[in-house]
Amino acid sequence: EAFCRKLPKVELHAHLNGSLSHSTMLQLKRYHADSGLTDNTDAFFDEFQIAAGDTRNLKQCFQVFRIAHSLTTTPEALTLATHLTLQEFQDDGCCYIELRSTPRDTPHMTKKQYIEAIILAMLHTPANMTIISRLIVSIDRRFNFAEAQEITDLVIEFHKLYSSVVVGIEISGDPSVGKFQTFVPLLENAKNAGLKVTLHCGEVCNPDEVQEMLDFNPNRIGHGTCILPRLGGNDATWNTLCIKKTPVEVCLTSNVNTKSIANYESHHFKELFDAGIPIIICTDDKGVFATSLSQEYRLCAETFKLDNSQLAQLSHRACLYIFDETSRKTVLDKLEHFITHNDL
Ligand code: 5GP
Repeated sequence: EAFCRKLPKVELHAHLNGSLSHSTMLQLKRYHADSGLTDNTDAFFDEFQIAAGDTRNLKQCFQVFRIAHSLTTTPEALTLATHLTLQEFQDDGCCYIELRSTPRDTPHMTKKQYIEAIILAMLHTPANMTIISRLIVSIDRRFNFAEAQEITDLVIEFHKLYSSVVVGIEISGDPSVGKFQTFVPLLENAKNAGLKVTLHCGEVCNPDEVQEMLDFNPNRIGHGTCILPRLGGNDATWNTLCIKKTPVEVCLTSNVNTKSIANYESHHFKELFDAGIPIIICTDDKGVFATSLSQEYRLCAETFKLDNSQLAQLSHRACLYIFDETSRKTVLDKLEHFITHNDL
């Protein structure tokens, strides 16, 4: 436990609104009350967390984000949410994070102001903050082409202005809704503008879409569950992943608590690891799943019998796949220093 916290780590798959801790949500509620804004979370506050054995289905699980959304409706609330979340990751030993979030129009801000608020929060962190933070902008699969295009155009524009902060674009949201193909021309535009791409891939059984996603050559994919034949993929999808070695953002607790995977022991981490596919251990939604990055490393070590040296190698390898190339050396140096000084 202590080792996992001390180990310098990178977080590459964390949704801002899913990462809000209980204490952050209470502070956001106070901010709303002090600002004379209403939030409708009272009746639902306790429904935000999804623990192991939760009886809600995947669709219902996606409803919980509405609770967080009603607490991030102004630029000031987003700034507070971003700073408190970054602080928690830093306190947990995370030295570099790519936070992702879906821009929303609210009664108090536009999508453009939404993105700008997070960028500015990352650029102007409190004095004690050393964690390097970058932004990946999310497109929800629910969006139609026009909505997704509006967001992509904004991301490209912001990437030109703040290339040191805005590093990527991604597709997320309810995997049973929408089609990946809708977004392909937009993702191509983003790629051509210098942005990196990561895709939620294979969260539900849909081998055709998984194949299309892998063939798109994203820089990374999230979850990658239904790629293996035993989990709803097929030989072609699994072989493609094994050949391309697309890095996979692995979110153990998220997969178990949403019942995508029956239990930790049967998680596809093992097959990915044995096949030499790059793995990045991530939290997904640390608020919703009541977890932390160090806890995910600990669970991984316990379940798959990894020693401290292997854990350090896992963290070291994850650094190779961070989107901000200018930070890669700084982060790798930190890891190498830790490995040398701890005789790992
Ligand atoms: P936000 O983008 O509002 O900061 O974070 C919450 C959003 O992230 C959700 O509304 C959903 O679109 C996306 N999200 C969070 N966790 C998951 C997940 O496990 N799978 C998918 N596909 N999307 C997720």
